[in-house]
Amino acid sequence: MDLVTITSHRAARGRDDLVLAPGETLLAGGTWLFSEPQPEVSGLVDLTTLGWPDWESLPGVLRLGATCTVSRVLDAPWGPAAELVRAAADSFLMSWKVQHVATVGGNLCLALPAGAMVSLGAALGAAVVIWTPDGGERVEPVVDFVTGAGTTTLAPGEVVRAIDVPTAALALPSAFRRASLTPLGRASAVVIGCGSRVTVSASTTRPVVLSLADLDAGLAAIDCWYDDPHGPADWREHVTGVMAREVRAELAS
Ligand SMILES: Cc1cc2nc3c(=O)[nH]c(=O)nc-3n(C[C@H](O)[C@H](O)[C@H](O)COP(=O)(O)OP(=O)(O)OC[C@H]3O[C@@H](n4cnc5c(N)ncnc54)[C@H](O)[C@@H]3O)c2cc1C
Repeated sequence: MDLVTITSHRAARGRDDLVLAPGETLLAGGTWLFSEPQPEVSGLVDLTTLGWPDWESLPGVLRLGATCTVSRVLDAPWGPAAELVRAAADSFLMSWKVQHVATVGGNLCLALPAGAMVSLGAALGAAVVIWTPDGGERVEPVVDFVTGAGTTTLAPGEVVRAIDVPTAALALPSAFRRASLTPLGRASAVVIGCGSRVTVSASTTRPVVLSLADLDAGLAAIDCWYDDPHGPADWREHVTGVMAREVRAELAS
């Protein structure tokens, strides 16, 4: 949709350009920003012109740039985890049109329970690399970065630069389950097993990581079941339990 309050657009070329003037906001893929009115926003600062690599192989981590699109994520060198990554990315209500534009950083910052990159990042034990306004950087696990439905630890002036996925996680055995009210509907519950971790998302307001060894107690302790038009909380809790036990059985076999 047209954002009728916008009067300026700046293409960011370097870190100095990320200092926002009153009314400005960061623009990544724009799939959410342009999907609803933004009456508070009068200017956009485009992150996609920063030239960040889509991905880099760094010591011990596969780094996905925040401006990497969800469709380009699929092309990164995932090795044995490629199937899991595709399942995670494809399971969300992002048509191929949205996948080609929506970015890793935008998905993390929006922090919807059905956030594809949130679920994947949490499941693989990834960390968010955040540029702070003082010119520094902080790093925080994805599972801590997202604090609730639509909320994160991101402070004013901070920018997500990348997500670092530990390469050791890519070789671990994994299992994936998803439930939604309709076959192509938004995910209502996602359970990803990876090594000794089981990560629950979409059915909870924030991603929750459980230990495979203590799965039943972990499920019983979850206190953030999500309730919205994509499924009531009690149903989400039930299907999550069923899928988590399926994941446990699959990993055991
Ligand atoms: C048809 C359709 C289906 C959708 N389905 C889903 C779904 O199933 N699950 C889901 O999670 N979302 C869904 N969305 C919402 C949205 O498209 C995605 O969350 C997408 O990943 C957002 O990424 P973006 O790059 O387009 O973000 P943008 O719209 O550009 O930005 C989103 C927000 O994040 C901020 N931001 C972006 N990048 C950064 C950064 N690097 N640092 C700091 N702040 C930043 C922006 O300022 C803005 O507030 C859907 C949208 C549409 C149109």
